[in-house]
Amino acid sequence: MHDTNYAEFYRRSVEAPEQFWADQARAIDWHRPWDQVLDGSRKPFARWFVGGMTNLCHNAVDRHLPERAGQPALIYVSSETGEERTYSYAELHREVQTMAASLRALGVEAGDRVLIYMPMIPEAVFAMLACARLGAVHSVVFGGFASVSLAARIDDARPRVIVSADAGSRAGKVIPYKPLLDEALRLSTHPAAQVLIVDRGLAPWDRVAGRDRSYAELRATHANDAVDCVWVDSTHPSYILYTSGTTGRPKGVQRDTGGYAVALRMSMEVIFGGRPGETYFSTSDIGWVVGHSYIVYAPLLTGMATVLYEGTPIRPDAAVLWRIVEQYRVNLMFSAPTAMRVLRRHDPALLTRHDLSSLRAIFLAGEPLDEPTGRWVAESMNKPVIDNYWQTETGWPILATPAQFPETRARFGSPGVAMPGYQVCLRNEHDGAPVAAGEKGVLAIDWPLPPGCLQTVWGDDARFVNTYWGTYPNLQVYSTFDWGRQDADGYIYILGRTDDVINVAGHRLGTREIEESVSSHAAVAEVAVVGVHDALKGQVAWAFVVPKPGQLPSGGNDALEQSIAAHVDAQLGAVARPQRIYFVSALPKTRSGKLLRRAIQAVCEGRDPGDLTTLEDPIALDQIPAAIAGA
Ligand code: AMP
Repeated sequence: MHDTNYAEFYRRSVEAPEQFWADQARAIDWHRPWDQVLDGSRKPFARWFVGGMTNLCHNAVDRHLPERAGQPALIYVSSETGEERTYSYAELHREVQTMAASLRALGVEAGDRVLIYMPMIPEAVFAMLACARLGAVHSVVFGGFASVSLAARIDDARPRVIVSADAGSRAGKVIPYKPLLDEALRLSTHPAAQVLIVDRGLAPWDRVAGRDRSYAELRATHANDAVDCVWVDSTHPSYILYTSGTTGRPKGVQRDTGGYAVALRMSMEVIFGGRPGETYFSTSDIGWVVGHSYIVYAPLLTGMATVLYEGTPIRPDAAVLWRIVEQYRVNLMFSAPTAMRVLRRHDPALLTRHDLSSLRAIFLAGEPLDEPTGRWVAESMNKPVIDNYWQTETGWPILATPAQFPETRARFGSPGVAMPGYQVCLRNEHDGAPVAAGEKGVLAIDWPLPPGCLQTVWGDDARFVNTYWGTYPNLQVYSTFDWGRQDADGYIYILGRTDDVINVAGHRLGTREIEESVSSHAAVAEVAVVGVHDALKGQVAWAFVVPKPGQLPSGGNDALEQSIAAHVDAQLGAVARPQRIYFVSALPKTRSGKLLRRAIQAVCEGRDPGDLTTLEDPIALDQIPAAIAGA
């Protein structure tokens, strides 16, 4: 069925979801058709395409072989090492089978977890697809995370095998991964997993006998092995991806197989306007959800070529992304507002130095897109800039202006309208009643979440139900924990988080996680971490620390600040390091002992801290501006 306008298309998706998604599901291959499109017998859980059997790797790779074996599938570009290599669909098929055979030789079977802690190299993509091929569950951990973050994820996912590399490289600096992994495994309570190391020759590494293997050896052994796809239930988990919340413990977002394949393929066609044989370039990292959905799965499910880029947007110069667009005739690009704000600090002539005639649009997501940045990109490149809003949990956009329906033109400041299947409603924070147009409310989604969204929290159904569906006990609604406002035409504006999660350069970080790391430093008695507005990164973390009496190092506050920063770097990774660390003698709390992060944040941003009647000790809040001014 062809809809002539988006309103009609969307209406069908929410009024007759089973019919709508069954139509979409025919665009992928099924080994066995489903018996039931949606099983809602255990709300708020939703199981899509129950009884159906499929395989993500088959749909991303094998399915395209008859038509496009010789066409590019994976284009690898590293401005760090200078390597560039294009893998055709046939070559990708070969590499994925070799990786799958290697994992199988290490004992990996359907349902086993494989943790992937890798820089942006082709073997990372081979490993993800190899897991999908075997029905194993991958858990990719962002390479910028350090040993304590990694150990927490190892303990939760309990992988049979960990695939890693000797090192990554960032801005020309080699970053050894193996020592961080060794330390994480030392901290972990999970009995020694097998470790498979892709040796790039960047950093020497110590081999732990009986545990560590070099991929080069297994690759040679399994170079010609054929590994068939293992057909799995549509509801079989395909991956776990950890994300931060309001507690110190990250949540393992669990994704299914069939629903994810169906939703992503639909999203690429309808939202992004991507077509088979075209080239897609997402500047994200495989460690984030954008990397999972829009570097690896959606482009390949669609039969497109996807660019895997290792490097920053400004090395060797700020035209590097556009050089890639020109050279590989990229049709669609996906990036984050921070990357564009970084480019904006460089010569604007660099934006148009290359031939960008192949490029149809630039999609930006992961954090709020400020209007000046959006306009600057659109005007200086003369290309549509399309904001889209979603979360690790949903796996694909909740709000956007879909390319296939040009009447939903982008409005600066709003990511757009609700995407198919998302029954978005802005609700009153107290009782969940829908708010009027133009009023601020919690951005909530009525049950069911469409296919492709999280199935549950890995190993913790109760956490899934309580965290996401527990905001309004009488309603079956999912909370995004974002504030929003909707105009009379259905366009939604995002107004910030309702919880203590912060967003640094498009990366979600939990303030509690950073607090736990800071407070594990020997000289720290107490700490509060808040997100503060930043012109480049959107937000940055500031920490307010109460030192333990008598623990000040000889170098004073400066030495303590450095020591705390190094401690967070080693535990969580530089991505979580507070940009500023201030010292105070007490933190503002309520009489019941609850930390007033909102009030601290307001003071840091020069705003009114609001109602302070519950504040136990007003002096504590006065110390905040004094500490900032004195630093
Ligand atoms: P993550 O799960 O790390 O992708 O973070 C998701 C969160 O990032 C959302 O809940 C929002 O707070 C924020 N976010 C993502 N995309 C946008 C956007 N286009 N505009 C505003 N905020 C966004």
